[in-house]
Amino acid sequence: MKIKVNQESCIGCGACAAIAEDLFELNDDGLSQAKVAEVPEEKKEQATEAMEGCPTGAIVSE
Ligand code: SF4
Repeated sequence: MKIKVNQESCIGCGACAAIAEDLFELNDDGLSQAKVAEVPEEKKEQATEAMEGCPTGAIVSE
């Protein structure tokens, strides 16, 4: 599972980083970015939770 944050949709609310701090961080622009390209097996649930919790649907997975 790969994750990516669409910078055009992200509003920098920080919810994803709060849910999954190992997977997301806010960058210098105040927008979220994925810390890893590939989500480790044990973090998949967190990644899905973050995706579902994102108010703008900015997190996409492949
Ligand atoms: S939850 Fe969505 S809108 Fe909020 S910081 Fe994360 S990617 Fe951006």
